[in-house]
Amino acid sequence: MTDVAASAPAYEPSRTGLSADALRRAIIDHIRYSIGRPAAALRPEHYYRALALAVRDRMQDNRVASTQTSLDLGSKLTCYLSAEFLMGPQLGANLLNLGIENAARTALAELGQDLEEVLDCEEEPGLGNGGLGRLAACYLDSLATLERPAIGYGIRYEFGIFDQELQDGWQVEKTDNWLLNGNPWEIAKPDVHYPVLWGGHTERYHDDAGVLRARWIPQRVIQGVAYDTPIQGYGVKTCNVLTLWSARAVQSFALEAFNTGDYYKAVEEEVTSETVTKVLYPNDEPEVGKRLRLLQQFFFVSCSLQHVLHIVDDLADLSIYELAERFAIQLNDTHPSIGVAELMRLLVDERRLDWNTAWTITVATFGYTNHTLLPEALEKWPLGIFGESLPRHLEIIYEINSRFLDEVRARFPGDEDRVRRMSLIDEDGAKSVRMAHLATVGSHAINGVAALHSELLKESVLKDFYEMWPERFSNKTNGVTPRRFVALSNPGLRQLFDRTVGDGWLTHLDRLRGLEAFIDDDGFRAEWRDVKRANKSRLADFVYAETGVELDPTWLFDIQVKRIHEYKRQHLNVLNIVTQYLRIKNNPGIDMAPRAYIFGGKAAPGYFLAKRIIKLITAVGDMVNFDPEVNRYMKVVFLPNFNVQNAHLIYPAANLSEQISTAGKEASGTGNMKFMMNGALTIGTLDGANVEIRAEAGPENFFLFGLTVEEVEKLKRNGYRPSSYIAADPELRAVLDLIAGGHFSHGDTEVFRPLIDNLTYDDPFLVLADYASYVGCQDRVSAAWQDRDAWSRMSILNSARSGKFSSDRAIAEYCDDIWGVHAVTVTNGK
Ligand SMILES: *Cc1c(COP(=O)(O)O)cnc(C)c1O
Repeated sequence: MTDVAASAPAYEPSRTGLSADALRRAIIDHIRYSIGRPAAALRPEHYYRALALAVRDRMQDNRVASTQTSLDLGSKLTCYLSAEFLMGPQLGANLLNLGIENAARTALAELGQDLEEVLDCEEEPGLGNGGLGRLAACYLDSLATLERPAIGYGIRYEFGIFDQELQDGWQVEKTDNWLLNGNPWEIAKPDVHYPVLWGGHTERYHDDAGVLRARWIPQRVIQGVAYDTPIQGYGVKTCNVLTLWSARAVQSFALEAFNTGDYYKAVEEEVTSETVTKVLYPNDEPEVGKRLRLLQQFFFVSCSLQHVLHIVDDLADLSIYELAERFAIQLNDTHPSIGVAELMRLLVDERRLDWNTAWTITVATFGYTNHTLLPEALEKWPLGIFGESLPRHLEIIYEINSRFLDEVRARFPGDEDRVRRMSLIDEDGAKSVRMAHLATVGSHAINGVAALHSELLKESVLKDFYEMWPERFSNKTNGVTPRRFVALSNPGLRQLFDRTVGDGWLTHLDRLRGLEAFIDDDGFRAEWRDVKRANKSRLADFVYAETGVELDPTWLFDIQVKRIHEYKRQHLNVLNIVTQYLRIKNNPGIDMAPRAYIFGGKAAPGYFLAKRIIKLITAVGDMVNFDPEVNRYMKVVFLPNFNVQNAHLIYPAANLSEQISTAGKEASGTGNMKFMMNGALTIGTLDGANVEIRAEAGPENFFLFGLTVEEVEKLKRNGYRPSSYIAADPELRAVLDLIAGGHFSHGDTEVFRPLIDNLTYDDPFLVLADYASYVGCQDRVSAAWQDRDAWSRMSILNSARSGKFSSDRAIAEYCDDIWGVHAVTVTNGK
């Protein structure tokens, strides 16, 4: 103990103390020693960085203790492999999880700063496209909060998902330079680096014992470097880590070229190496064989697996044969599925294990989460690209496949059609490697992400695999973290929950059931509405600042935020809006509950129709919002650049949550869960987790419409003709004619033609088939909204019954059923 501490027992060290006083001193220290600015030149962003560093210090302390504790106990840990982590702003979440929000507020106030203003300085790391990456982030929060040891592994993209701007109502993409002002949360670990091989060819040789082995002679070697971000659990000492890999050129390679006088070749090598982690690929585009994307996937997976094996080597009590006893590796979709072949290569070629032993270890270690049934989103790599890039892995995949298909033939003799369907290699047309099959064959556990999705998985894309190994399949319905999506983003509701059911709900979300006792309490319902009203005002201010459109917070806020995609059917929403618009125009003075229709979401840059849907929404808004006959009843806004930061303002402000995908297409959805927790009612189809949301909330508290999966399949089987729906429904025809006729486009009849033609002649997502049902359901929503008290009761019941959709429940299931990872209580904070 130091003299200072001994002589002043009340003193808390500036790097670990959790009091306002210790934090204030820590901020001052970091301003001097880490930021290096004179006091007169300090702006809120400097206080942001100083506070972030002070908070990181406190998490680092817990991180050291967490690592030590699990080492001491020999605990099993989860490695969550994901090409995307959509983390959102970190400062607020870390203050919440450490329980030092008030201390930070006070410390900043004493320095003349406002916490909210400082929080606003953070640039969010947009290292994901949407739901899948956000799920990974929620799971990291829950793993730490449930005290489960875990490492998240991913890619440190220099540019995350693009920033979306609107120009003349069209989406324009701007690069997301999130690292421009540095990232205070990460700790660079230049000493933690691994070589990643690429290209070239393979050779055979005899090892010292005379055994024939394979050797990979790569064309290139790239180095991956670790950047660690601490992941603090809520209300516990546990602090896990997110390790993101960044690419850099291998120095010896560059020097070699330099020595031979080819300086420019050396520099070029450096440039191409570092493009590996330069940019996140926007998804939702039909999967094309982009070589750089395969390299990104292999790059982060290879680094992560080498890191895991390195940890194994460092642990005196652990041999490689016991890998699966101490590490559970989860594949978040097929993006990291090359890991199956890479672990085999590391074990067989580099560790010299025999094939069968290596395979047993591999299958026991991996689990695979499937996230999509959409055929165009299932990853396949053309054999040419694959073989040129990863020649040794292609050989390994052929070997896995040959042994696997022998098993299939033994189980299903004479069924060569089945063998062809199950093969890891698609032999039809341009041959390719089926990554979902590789992930499935290489995993002991395969799961879907909602009850319906898991059932469909077993009936469709993985049917043959289910018949072979039914015991490997299970469902793990997605969840979201109530720390971020309720406590942090809805402080008014947090306080109301605390007062009503006690603060345990934050880690035991099912305790919100206690709210049900208050639905008939007039005072409580009034408080409930006050919270929602305040959130709507907050969103209205933001919408006004971003778009110039004024929204009235007494109106029904009807919100659809998510990636723009035909299967999510934002255009179905627009067809209803135009229907309501025509009703107003044709019936002046009509009695209609006023609504704000709010949209947000990015379209993949190459997705033609999705970009037209954005243009259609903004065009309808431009007409509606400025027409005095109409804007008393409705407004339509497209909020640009939907991301986690503005999601904090959006979900808490919704009265109605739009979850209107074609049945069978949305694997789960997680936005639907965030809305529900915050008291929105859902209008939705029986798709993804909507089915379970409706079951939990009670069917009387959910606005259901549309075809079921079975009805969708039947309609398609019998030959779906969208034009027949137009012929039979004058209101639908009028809506389509109005759009096609250029009413929303200054007479331009070309701009929306591709959309209208698509709906009229093809309509792959059955928008027109569900139109009448949707509009009818929206009429029921409007009627229900008129009864304020009944609406409030339904709203409260939705929150009260949202407990199942906490990511804590989901993660507990993964830990218990798939990973065998148990809670480890970290006690010593030093
Ligand atoms: C939750 C979330 C999503 C996923 O929304 P879905 O409605 O489930 O598609 C996408 N983006 C962001 C920023 C989110 O927070």
